Amino acid sequence: MSTTLDRSAAQSTQNVWEMAQAQLDDVAQLTGLNRSVHAYLREPKRVLQVSVPVRMDDGIFKMFEGYRVQHNLSRGPGKGGIRFHPDVTLDEVKALAMWMTWKCALVNIPFGGAKGGVICDPKTMSAGVLENLTRRFTSEISIIIGPEKDIPAPDVYTTPQIMAWIMDTFSMQHGYSIPGVVTGKPLSIGGSLGRDKATARGCLYVVNEAMRELKLQVAGAKVAIQGFGNAGMHAADLMHADGYTVVAVSDSRGGVCNDAGLDIAKVMLHKLETGSVHGFPGGDAINNKDVLEYDCDVLVPAALEKVITKENAPRIKAKIIAEAANGPTLPDADEILFERNILVLPDILANAGGVTVSYFEWVQDLQNNFWEEDEINERLKSIMVRAFRDTLAQTTRHRVNMRRGAYAVAVERVAEATMARGLYP
Ligand code: NAD
Repeated sequence: MSTTLDRSAAQSTQNVWEMAQAQLDDVAQLTGLNRSVHAYLREPKRVLQVSVPVRMDDGIFKMFEGYRVQHNLSRGPGKGGIRFHPDVTLDEVKALAMWMTWKCALVNIPFGGAKGGVICDPKTMSAGVLENLTRRFTSEISIIIGPEKDIPAPDVYTTPQIMAWIMDTFSMQHGYSIPGVVTGKPLSIGGSLGRDKATARGCLYVVNEAMRELKLQVAGAKVAIQGFGNAGMHAADLMHADGYTVVAVSDSRGGVCNDAGLDIAKVMLHKLETGSVHGFPGGDAINNKDVLEYDCDVLVPAALEKVITKENAPRIKAKIIAEAANGPTLPDADEILFERNILVLPDILANAGGVTVSYFEWVQDLQNNFWEEDEINERLKSIMVRAFRDTLAQTTRHRVNMRRGAYAVAVERVAEATMARGLYP
């Protein structure tokens, strides 16, 4: 297995799973990772593919394909979201599961990595069909999930309501309430305060650390955000409240920009009323690709993967890129950004706030003891700042970019746990 070959394969086919494996290969070489452990970590532990029959509104059954992948469980039960999107592939879910392993290790919470997905378009489904799909998918994957085994959470186009249906289906199957099977639930059934904004808040904390490191002023620093869902919308809101000037935002239907700063509360209202930020009257129209190249200090990709490529990387103007989305930057773009001295806060660091508060939610559910929001935000901050510092230490030590630094921290922790446990039988 050659790192060079794997990396070029990832770039030419742009296969996200090969990209994830190439990132591991790269850090294995950097840190001198044990060859056996490297081989072990290169593959997912468990892949479950399910066919999900769903009764549609007209009474006809339709089949959907879904997956739950557990990449590594050495440090604890699997943890990772479930994505409902027409472009879901098994390779994508495998990559996302591997990234969850590194993310949980980087923030040092006792979870392994997992991820799920269903190939579907929730935007075209009635609430009833979405519920049918969610419940049957939950039932199909229930053989490998559970509070001690694997704990799903929201991801692209899955919501607290969907988490509630997952919790209820799993609980009904067992005959009693099991809130710890899933995180990102509504508060009324064991959700955690602060979970809704946790990904964005964690992102803000590490951006603030990076700003300090680069000796940049927060007040008035310009921010552009691609994606205006859970991660992107709350990032816009929290960064605006913290003194940043949000100059451009976009979602799948288009975007809006204003160099003097967007009124984020009004953009959020517009999104609520129309379903999109597109057409917001307080700025000019911009498409969601141009948002990435917008003149700003901080760029936050918060939609889908593979959006920063070798084509647009030379034109990016931000000084800091905070990857709220998973896998937004292709490896060859990473190299260009590093050469251009643009600080990339990698996904496993920048969006780890979500899984960190999911961990808090799980702990609260297991203990039936719920914390105040201030306490949650304080604990989140100390974990994010520590992860940033750990990453920076490895980045400096190996003279590499922050992604490789973060991987060095995370892979070493997973390798240590894997070796400590040894091989069964
Ligand atoms: P979401 O469904 O709440 O929002 C997704 C957003 O992306 C929407 O605004 C949608 O319009 C936009 N979008 C979709 N396709 C697009 C396209 N082609 N171009 C531009 N925008 C597009 O999802 P989310 O939970 O905010 O997830 C966004 C990203 O953040 C994903 O990569 C996800 O894996 C990552 N993430 C989310 C969490 C979390 O807690 N929600 C945690 C960690 C990472």
